[in-house]
Amino acid sequence: MTGGARVFDEPLHVGRPNVGDRARLRERIDGALDRLWFTNNGPLVREFEERVAELAGTRHCVAVSNATTGIQVAAKAVGIGIGDEVIVPSFTWVATPHALDWIGAVPVFCDVDEATGTADVAHVEKLIGPRTRGILGVHVFGHPCRIDELTALADRHGIPLLFDAAHALGCTYRGKPIGGFGAAEIFSFQATKFVNSFEGGAIVTDDDELADRARAMRHQGLNPDHEITGSGTVARMHEISAAMGLTSLEAADTFTEVNRRNHRLYEEELSDVPGIRVRRQAAGELTNCQYVVIEVDAPRAGLDRDTLNSVLHRHNVLARPYFSPGCHDSEPYRSDPARHAPDPLPRTEALTRRVLSLPTGMAVGPAEVAGVCAVIREAVSAARSGAADGILIPTA
Ligand SMILES: *Cc1c(COP(=O)(O)O)cnc(C)c1O
Repeated sequence: MTGGARVFDEPLHVGRPNVGDRARLRERIDGALDRLWFTNNGPLVREFEERVAELAGTRHCVAVSNATTGIQVAAKAVGIGIGDEVIVPSFTWVATPHALDWIGAVPVFCDVDEATGTADVAHVEKLIGPRTRGILGVHVFGHPCRIDELTALADRHGIPLLFDAAHALGCTYRGKPIGGFGAAEIFSFQATKFVNSFEGGAIVTDDDELADRARAMRHQGLNPDHEITGSGTVARMHEISAAMGLTSLEAADTFTEVNRRNHRLYEEELSDVPGIRVRRQAAGELTNCQYVVIEVDAPRAGLDRDTLNSVLHRHNVLARPYFSPGCHDSEPYRSDPARHAPDPLPRTEALTRRVLSLPTGMAVGPAEVAGVCAVIREAVSAARSGAADGILIPTA
């Protein structure tokens, strides 16, 4: 590795799609083409729903076109509407609050707790007011929220609790699969998620009536008898998406093994790099390890997250500062803090300055992990020795 030379000729991405068995995918797509059944609750969608419900351990799975509309449908299905406040962490992908904002609900941002990166329960409680009509927790990077405490809090106040489980397929909380908590949980199968259906999502729940409402709402308000039962949208999953979703699910164990191996390798290789720490997975739980997130402690590392990120990019390692800025610092929320962020969010702000997601998934093997870690190690070493401004990497 010499001064200006790139460590990787081809870019290494965060969230590069995992592809399962192509032959199975093509077979399934051919089946849909032969059946001339492309959408509207087709056989592949129903099979996909069964598989996801099994994994989540829930009675129902309602497949949808993406998690963003899934959150909207689930929120409407629990009665959240225009002007209703929903408490949500700011440390998440902006889809979480946008989904609420787009249906006229008002996201109110809570801080996160340091260890889990998820909603700070005491702060959620403090934010509950007369207009609060829901709590939307996020199992960020697959780390479960403090579910028991949030459930008790929501019950005490008689407000529905939903979970954005976009990162948490195949993860557990106290040994039980994510999916069966709160009123409903929402998965994403977007192409960058470790199991994907090109685009897609699912609402999982044990509540029969909620599932019926969600099924109708995703399909213009139609019930199974084709009666219009109320207002709705189009949030259906189509057969090609389900074909990919099923094929991807079949390979989920392999994807997870690779992600776990990569996570372990990153942890090992970075363990002695000062100021760099790989964020921990939930102790004692199953996790999909689909994100490798490091925290950069700038005073110790001698360089900040953004500097390290630009060094990595120069070497074709397309790391991502997920999730930065916090949602409360993004439009439209940032322009109306009185409405969306009534309290300061110091832990969120500290976290958003430190985090950086590194490439993993099927396109990343041990050699790539070693290369990425070498860049990080040398950048930190150069920055700490004052040999460079943290931008230049010295000859190895
Ligand atoms: C990806 C993601 C979403 C949105 O998923 P889509 O399927 O793209 O709508 C929502 N929340 C979080 C935390 C995500 O990472």
